[in-house]
Amino acid sequence: MPSATQATTDQLVDYVTSCALPTPWAQFTLHAFIEHSTGKEHLAMVLGDIGDGEPVLARVHSECLTGDVLFSQRCDCGAQLEGALQRIAEEGRGVLLYLRQEGRGIGLVNKIRAYRLQEAGADTVEANLQLGFHADARNYELCKPMLAQFGVRSLRLMTNNPRKIDALSRLGIAVAERVPLLVNRNAFNNSYLNTKQAKLGHMMGPVEAPADAS
Ligand SMILES: [Zn+2]
Repeated sequence: MPSATQATTDQLVDYVTSCALPTPWAQFTLHAFIEHSTGKEHLAMVLGDIGDGEPVLARVHSECLTGDVLFSQRCDCGAQLEGALQRIAEEGRGVLLYLRQEGRGIGLVNKIRAYRLQEAGADTVEANLQLGFHADARNYELCKPMLAQFGVRSLRLMTNNPRKIDALSRLGIAVAERVPLLVNRNAFNNSYLNTKQAKLGHMMGPVEAPADAS
């Protein structure tokens, strides 16, 4: 087996083990990591040979239980997760890091508190600030040792978020190209997406027309 299956230790994260993960789009290899400081379990889904030095199609996805698992239409996370895995499968090569930083880093219960504030009129940024959090509390420093585990040095990053590109670049992870992710707008997430565009600088093109019939 390749070196990726050997348990290694970094100062931030331990690589633990891997297994096959069949999905509707491809059979990925699922790799498990444990973060030292928090004990949180993080994942990487890998397809093909990503350690050959060429830029790797990649998604750095932060956990969104409501969007990824519970089909929430409040955000676009589930559609982005599915779209990224489909795109990797189409190319036959890539990696998706699944980071356990729910609710842009504030946690699941606090995210639901923030949703409640949004129902009272706050937008997604104002709600986080009212709860005493940063607008975006995510941290990407784990990405470097996780990608190093597979010999990945340069990304073709699927994202609409320029802050994520900046954060990864500051960590010394080369982003050779930004690959836009299609945005799945609907009547429920339209204002959320507009706020991410206006206040967090997200690049929302190419944009699909709002879905009004589904
Ligand atoms: Zn979400």
